[in-house]
Amino acid sequence: MKRFFQLIGVLAGLLIVTMAFNTITFQSSDSKEFENIQVELANDGIAERLAGAIRIPTVSHQQVQDIDYPSFLTLHRYIDENFPRVRQSLQKNVINEYSLLYKWQGSDPNQQPVLLLSHMDVVPVVAGSESRWEYPPFSGEIADGYIWGRGTLDNKQGVFAILEAVEDLLAKGHQPERTHYLAFGHDEEIGGSQGAGKIAEYLKSKDVNAIYALDEGGFITNGDQFGLPGKVAMVNISEKGIVNLKLTVTGKGGHSSMPPAETAASILSQAVVKVSANKLPINTDPVKKMLESVAGELPLHQRIVAANFGLLKPFVAYFAERIPMLNVFVRTTTAPTMLQGSPKSNVLPTEAFAIVNHRIIPGETAESVKAFITKIIDDDRVSVEFSGGFGNPSEVASVDSMGFRTIRKTIKQVSPTDPIIITGLLPAATDTRHYGDVSEDAYRFIYAEINMDENRFHGTNERIKVESYLEAVKFFVQLIKNSDAAGSDAG
Ligand SMILES: [Zn+2]
Repeated sequence: MKRFFQLIGVLAGLLIVTMAFNTITFQSSDSKEFENIQVELANDGIAERLAGAIRIPTVSHQQVQDIDYPSFLTLHRYIDENFPRVRQSLQKNVINEYSLLYKWQGSDPNQQPVLLLSHMDVVPVVAGSESRWEYPPFSGEIADGYIWGRGTLDNKQGVFAILEAVEDLLAKGHQPERTHYLAFGHDEEIGGSQGAGKIAEYLKSKDVNAIYALDEGGFITNGDQFGLPGKVAMVNISEKGIVNLKLTVTGKGGHSSMPPAETAASILSQAVVKVSANKLPINTDPVKKMLESVAGELPLHQRIVAANFGLLKPFVAYFAERIPMLNVFVRTTTAPTMLQGSPKSNVLPTEAFAIVNHRIIPGETAESVKAFITKIIDDDRVSVEFSGGFGNPSEVASVDSMGFRTIRKTIKQVSPTDPIIITGLLPAATDTRHYGDVSEDAYRFIYAEINMDENRFHGTNERIKVESYLEAVKFFVQLIKNSDAAGSDAG
């Protein structure tokens, strides 16, 4: 999204005058009405407890036989030992052996519950990169003001900040009105179907319908990355889906010395060219929503574009062809990735295939993408089939809901930097998408301040500032409190 808002500035120059009316009547949902709140934490040892969890290598591998499942049970025991009040007061459910679901019963059964989500697994350390870690990846070292190691960002910090917040509130004798579910999957990094997928199935079987869910997928960073002043907090409201389409052409084979007019390879090539040349249609809605949520804090010329983004479709289409970053946010993308013909230079192929990877924008589905591609190719000799696992895009969460208002208010109250809150579309997948049936609105945000220039998610020297982590705990303490009062005063 780098340069995204600069681009918005360029578009502004094109259309400044005709749009004054929309701009004047445009409602901003952001403002500075919330005072900072000092949350005092009851317990010591918060950073040390996360560091201890980092030392338990709960690594997800693409090949499931490589996964050390007992390490997840070690982590379960570690949580039991370190959060005695959670153990006493919450109902714990182990789902599918390795995932955890806690229920903190609220005092008012008539209020819809809240879902706080995170995952316990981490990605492997890239072989050969170990020596580049300043502290070993599973050392959980606390040094230079940071907690170091795999999972400090993605996403044991989420699991432990939530547990710390609940332990803190229990120590203070707090009883929430709403029931809170804490759900920690064990396989997010390899798709989440065995963890979050099973937790969501279980919740559905219990008729749980949460008022909102909060998971990873956004963070606090420098505004200049977006052409915005100060800090920004990205609260993502949707994520793209994925589908692989396999285009296959069969041929008669034979020797290449006497070829027919067309071979399976040449027919396939024409199909790939058509698919590449005919992009899926532009959909400006996700970007429009994103701009609406931030417009109040934009400079005037950017605000004009934000207010009129729907009218800019022709320009958006033009720029999307030239700026991949914009393209990602306004359409289902098309990327031919694999091609195969015959195995030998002098053999005509009996089969040629291509894989085209699509990232699906909300509003479309794997089926609709397949139908579009089949129509574009318009050739009976080319079969179009799904290839491998796919997922549809998530629902788009509301920016005018109790959940969004509560998250936004809590960020503003807890953060000393008063970040601008922007919403957006996540081009990657998280566990959140599994919870569509059990939550009205799902948001993607972790309370962590991250400099995008040194984005270390899945990277070397993954670390989190101790100070930022303590703020994350305060964020959840305040979020749980605000979720009770939110129905009336989240503004
Ligand atoms: Zn993650």
